[in-house]
Amino acid sequence: MFSSDELQRYNRQIIIEEWGIKGQEKLANSRVFIAGGGGLASPVAMYLAAAGVGTITICDNDIVDISNLNRQIIHNEKRIGLNKADSAYATLSSINHHVNIHIIKEKIKAGNAATLTGNSDIIIDCLDNFPSRHDLNKASVKLSIPLIHGGVSGFSGQVSLLVPPETACLSCFLPSKTDRKKIPIYGATVGVIGSLQATEAIKFILGIPTPLKGKILFWDGMAMKFDSFKLKKKAGCKVCGKK
Ligand SMILES: [Zn+2]
Repeated sequence: MFSSDELQRYNRQIIIEEWGIKGQEKLANSRVFIAGGGGLASPVAMYLAAAGVGTITICDNDIVDISNLNRQIIHNEKRIGLNKADSAYATLSSINHHVNIHIIKEKIKAGNAATLTGNSDIIIDCLDNFPSRHDLNKASVKLSIPLIHGGVSGFSGQVSLLVPPETACLSCFLPSKTDRKKIPIYGATVGVIGSLQATEAIKFILGIPTPLKGKILFWDGMAMKFDSFKLKKKAGCKVCGKK
């Protein structure tokens, strides 16, 4: 049961035909794990908190640096030097006090990924490094928890909804590492890609079928074009292939 305050707060989305009060209840009962507390996590976490997702876990062991502020809008000048999960907590709890916000100040690794993500309904990849992404993917496949991958560079980005064991996994198509030490990035790019990730998470929780399942969507902000491709399971994939 929602309070009258909540019914007012969520009114404009509850009146969406595919959403309704039932959809709002599904959101209130859902648990979302957000890996990373930076650029992609900013729009993802803020939109999901505003929409009324019941439990949001945000995991980051990094601290807020001045060079983050061009894109990581969940943080601000006063939070420089603070842990990113702590800073995200302060922002999210000021957006919507009805949401349970859990913070984890750890780096995602092979040894902790499955434990950290284990009780979530969906995992959102808002990470900035390939090794942690692959550890997160292994947990997603092991636990059969859907993963919404996002990645950005400059004026372009990509998003994908991976649903193990039905679809390809991240390891089927993402390289194991990148040679680039510093990826160029501008704020609204993570805004676009993070907003798409949040949209896919909401649709997944509401049970609305999505054409992005098992596909990857590329956004080219220079040409202002979207393209999508089906992701094939890699034969002999070390993560999702038959043992
Ligand atoms: Zn795979």
